[in-house]
Amino acid sequence: MVSVDPYTPSRARYECYDCGYREATDSLATCPECGGRTRNIAVARE
Ligand SMILES: [Zn+2]
Repeated sequence: MVSVDPYTPSRARYECYDCGYREATDSLATCPECGGRTRNIAVARE
C-alpha cells in the first residue's frame, strides 16, 4: 500500500500557494499540479 501520510511529523511538508496541493517531501520547488510556488508549512505550525 502506497499512501502519503499528511501528518508525518519528521518530514518537511510543502503546500502550494495557488491550489493548496500538499506533499511530504524534503524539497519541493514548484507544485507538480499547477506549477505554482510552494511554501514550507512544517515550520509554520505554532
Ligand atoms: Zn499548485
